[in-house]
Amino acid sequence: MSIRVYNKKRKFDETTEPEGKVVNRNLFRFVVQRHEASHLHYDFRLDLGGVLKSWAVPKGPSMNPADKRLAVMVEDHPVSYIGFKGTIPEGNYGAGTVEIWDKGFYFPIDKEQQRISERQALALLKKGELKIFLKGDKLEGEFVLVKMKPDEKNWLLIKHKDEYAVKKKYDSEQFRNTTQSAKKEHGKPKSE
Ligand code: MN
Repeated sequence: MSIRVYNKKRKFDETTEPEGKVVNRNLFRFVVQRHEASHLHYDFRLDLGGVLKSWAVPKGPSMNPADKRLAVMVEDHPVSYIGFKGTIPEGNYGAGTVEIWDKGFYFPIDKEQQRISERQALALLKKGELKIFLKGDKLEGEFVLVKMKPDEKNWLLIKHKDEYAVKKKYDSEQFRNTTQSAKKEHGKPKSE
């Protein structure tokens, strides 16, 4: 969904969110914003193709491969949205509070876990299945985004089994005020 949709939905004299524009470089960053709007959800955003490709994840991401988190694709956001946090005033689209739950870098990968180009990643996204390797404070390792049906906005965000995956129940809310990864929390305690 184009960035024009993003601009159309917002009144920039009221919200402190950045105005939408497409940029021509990509730093392979990602962000997860905890958005306490009419319904609490987590916005998962990948810096790709000059915008932030965005999904609203009602339950938040999970580091447990047994979880298949519904991720509803929403309009592309401008790359400058990556640092956005604060309050969107009442009466505006997405009114509520936004905080940064996790951020970091990612790269798109193929079936053999080899890094692929941005162009290849965009093609795979269009096909409805994109594998990524995340390096955030909380989210780490391989994930996949899979579109459930053609012509629908519903995707699944699923952790792959790897050295970063956890087996315990994963609740994003539990990690709200920490930069600790799930592995550190659930695995070996860190002394610091
Ligand atoms: Mn949102």
